[in-house]
Amino acid sequence: MQSTDIFTLGLGLRPPWQIKNQRLDLDKDPHELHLRIESKRGSTYPCPKCGKECKAHDFTELTWRHLNFFQHHCYLTASVPRTNCPDHGVKRIKVPWARKGSKFTLLFEQAAMTLVREMPVLSAARIMEITDTRLWRVVHYYVERAVRRMDLSQLAAFGLDETASKRGHNYVTVFIDLERKTKPVIFSIPGKGKAAVKAFRRFMEDHGGHVGNIVEVVCDMSKAFIAATEEQFPYARQTVDWFHVVQLFTRAIDEVRREESKEHKLPKATRWAVLKASEKGLTDAQLEAILQLEASDLNTAKAWRIREMLRWINGAHSLGSAKWRMTHFINYAKELVDGNPFLTPVAKALETLERHKQRVLGRWRSLYTNARMEGFNSLFQAVRSRARGYRNTYTFITMIYLIAAPLGDLVKST
Ligand SMILES: [Zn+2]
Repeated sequence: MQSTDIFTLGLGLRPPWQIKNQRLDLDKDPHELHLRIESKRGSTYPCPKCGKECKAHDFTELTWRHLNFFQHHCYLTASVPRTNCPDHGVKRIKVPWARKGSKFTLLFEQAAMTLVREMPVLSAARIMEITDTRLWRVVHYYVERAVRRMDLSQLAAFGLDETASKRGHNYVTVFIDLERKTKPVIFSIPGKGKAAVKAFRRFMEDHGGHVGNIVEVVCDMSKAFIAATEEQFPYARQTVDWFHVVQLFTRAIDEVRREESKEHKLPKATRWAVLKASEKGLTDAQLEAILQLEASDLNTAKAWRIREMLRWINGAHSLGSAKWRMTHFINYAKELVDGNPFLTPVAKALETLERHKQRVLGRWRSLYTNARMEGFNSLFQAVRSRARGYRNTYTFITMIYLIAAPLGDLVKST
């Protein structure tokens, strides 16, 4: 057996392709192993359109980066023919070791994609010894292809939320299938509001979904989302996630605190203490701040106490009891904030809650667990870290899909 045969075997080459020769270039650093692939003279090749065996029209020399051979970079070079099919004319054939247009072999891309599922793209690029720009191109290709194949024919309920790919701008809206426990993301698009919901409906219909099958939509209390889902998904019941109710009041506390801190000295650590949604995980300083707040008559403390009362509603075991608690909460809290301009943010939050009362109460009837939407935040954090060094809306969306969408085997061709 010749050494070229070993490479032929290792690459899984089949006739008419075989390794013609190999050369180790020691002038390069790292050293480069170059394998030359050739087909037998006079071979015929399948037309890429119809598969009919045709003679070669002409040849072009192409080179692909392959998996390292030990510590050496490895390249394949081949003269790739164009067939001259009587029905389809002159076409470049597909080679079995690389996809069209790529400068990498399939095995190289497969290894890279395996790494990218486990670590930031930048780290994977370092291991594969290519630039992260080139690796991103590969990642985009496979993720887009997998997204195109997604099947949404069974979709019955979805949730949506928006986030910023960078602090404060470049919004991205993400849709999840509420029936999927893992990898729930089914769509992600730049922008927010009505346009995003419309785009999702088109995407869903292009992927086998039916508007008539959608029985529930879970979202926050933004006017744009509510109006758009009502219009695009008229048969679905709208539910507001409890997580968004807590978030609404947490933002109100923060506004009250910011204003009040201009005039009064607040206990140290107040800021983070009140932003946390529960006592769990409070530092000693934060706990101390809460205790001082509770004993004070500061407006921040009043706002905080109101948010804490939400727990009482959330603890209701039936729809009837939740309804009763919600009404009492709203009336009681309104009295507390009435006539106090510092508590206007809380008054506004109460109005919003009252306006969406039925949608919030919907969670006591919902078939879907409530904690699903909360997972968005940790997903977005993971995405930001994986796309670091190269973050824009496009890479952000690709990474959301890669981490959290049911994409299956990315590199497999069918
Ligand atoms: Zn043909």
